[in-house]
Amino acid sequence: MSRNGSSDVENFMDNLRDRTSGEEEFHQAVHEVVESIMPVVRDTKAYRDAAILERLVEPDRIVSFRVAWTTDKNETRVNRGYRVQFNGALGPYKGGLRFRPTVTQSVLKFLGFEQVFKNALTGLPLGGGKGGSDFDPKGRSDDEVMRFCQAFMTELVRHIGADRDVPAGDIGVGSREIGYLFGQHRRLTAEFTGVLTGKAPGWGGSLIRPEATGYGLVYFTERALEKLEDGLKGKRVAISGSGNVAMYAAEKATELGCKVVTMSDSSGVIHDPDGIDADKLSFIKDLKLERRGRISEYAERYDVEYREGAKPWSVECDVALPCATQNELDGEDAKELVKNGVMFVAEGANMPTTADAAKVFRDKGIPHCPGKASNAGGVSVSGLEMTQNAQRLSWSAEEVDEKLKGIMRDIHDRCCAHGTEDGKTDYVRGANIAAFVKVADAMVDQGVF
Ligand code: NDP
Repeated sequence: MSRNGSSDVENFMDNLRDRTSGEEEFHQAVHEVVESIMPVVRDTKAYRDAAILERLVEPDRIVSFRVAWTTDKNETRVNRGYRVQFNGALGPYKGGLRFRPTVTQSVLKFLGFEQVFKNALTGLPLGGGKGGSDFDPKGRSDDEVMRFCQAFMTELVRHIGADRDVPAGDIGVGSREIGYLFGQHRRLTAEFTGVLTGKAPGWGGSLIRPEATGYGLVYFTERALEKLEDGLKGKRVAISGSGNVAMYAAEKATELGCKVVTMSDSSGVIHDPDGIDADKLSFIKDLKLERRGRISEYAERYDVEYREGAKPWSVECDVALPCATQNELDGEDAKELVKNGVMFVAEGANMPTTADAAKVFRDKGIPHCPGKASNAGGVSVSGLEMTQNAQRLSWSAEEVDEKLKGIMRDIHDRCCAHGTEDGKTDYVRGANIAAFVKVADAMVDQGVF
């Protein structure tokens, strides 16, 4: 066996694959974590005795249910709903709901597993979970989305609660869906509790929640560059996506003096070497949030290059922030980025880089931060929303933003504390170990079950 226990890792993974065949996204996420933490497990008798690793990859429970609803034409449709309650050792399960046709149990298990670690890194009392449905809200009327959400919550209600499991939004679940879900929960329970986060600020939501993941990503990057005795000012930033995370990452990066040179959607990418400034970003916000249009319209409006079906990773940039979806940056993309001068990569999306890409960055000495650390701003402000709900008060935007900044800087420093060797930080290893130790210690303390 090698020094980092690679044959232990492979044995463990073979066993997991046998028990969970076909769940490839989940295997990928577990493999990345186990590679980092195996030496810690090997050196810690209490973790081995309590079979922490074996228990950690087995969700506390998975609920899967039928969601039947009617279209505007009164046709009955059936989707599948899920909630994966992955690990509750640190607090109530917490993690988003995703409505997208590609949602499967494997995808939700990978997201739930990642969420356990992400939530541990925030330092807040949060367990990890994830849920959603293969329902596609795109092209559906408001009434259809409302009926779907009501049907979904009619089953989910029996599994969640402010002290038990507090879902939030994710892809396909924005403020509209959270409103309908919360309304149905209130109707069924006759209680107004903090059972969901991502609520509108007028009725229990936290200010800065929509901005939190993108802003947090940039605060994390700012802290990392500070550690490299550099700064954000003047950096060219390549961002993928033009959704919630991408938009607010672009906003904060621009505000702090960066030049954001790309944004994209699932159809293609725009490249604006002059930078997407605040005015141009307002256009994108209107395009995506109000008109639900395509990013190609930006290219027409500002006369910049648009490449259909392409990704942003072939442009010159200093910082890359993948903010669209999983596995959107592969080994070839990573080589292109390195060739084009990238010096820092931080994930806004969940697991946007493939294992090959992560290896390219590691081999070339480019710091690469996993989403579980760098995109934890969203869940952090969700945690702050839970605190505000429990206290029945609301903090100002400035207060929340200041707390968010502090949390992201602390997460960064936790990664450094566990991942730095010879002055160089391996953020993937640092994040995995810091989170693992926190969850594992709680599991040891709470006994075997
Ligand atoms: P949105 O739905 O708001 O935006 C997603 C963006 O990614 C859209 O621009 C979408 O384009 C694009 N996209 C989707 N699939 C692809 C693809 N296959 N290729 C290229 N572009 C694609 O989602 P969010 O911004 O909320 O989330 C993005 C990622 O960040 C996800 O991985 C999510 O899990 C993660 N995340 C989100 C958090 C949050 O607070 N929102 C918190 C932590 C992580 P199109 O419009 O064409 O579909």
